Amino acid sequence: MCCDDLEQALKDELIIIMDKFYLQDGRIMNAVESQYYIRRENRDSGYNYYGINFCPFCGMGISFVAQGFSS
Ligand SMILES: [Zn+2]
Repeated sequence: MCCDDLEQALKDELIIIMDKFYLQDGRIMNAVESQYYIRRENRDSGYNYYGINFCPFCGMGISFVAQGFSS
């Protein structure tokens, strides 16, 4: 991980790593291409996921896209 804060957020499942094609317990709310998602519990229907390309704590590029591995 880029920093301890992100590692802790992953441990707390505030931010999760997943492949969006296997998403079954919620829906993705934005169009950011990433394997990192901020997860928000939705009272009615599972979770809302927000894709992020950059670490919200230190600003490091964390997704494949931000690191330049796309295409
Ligand atoms: Zn970080």
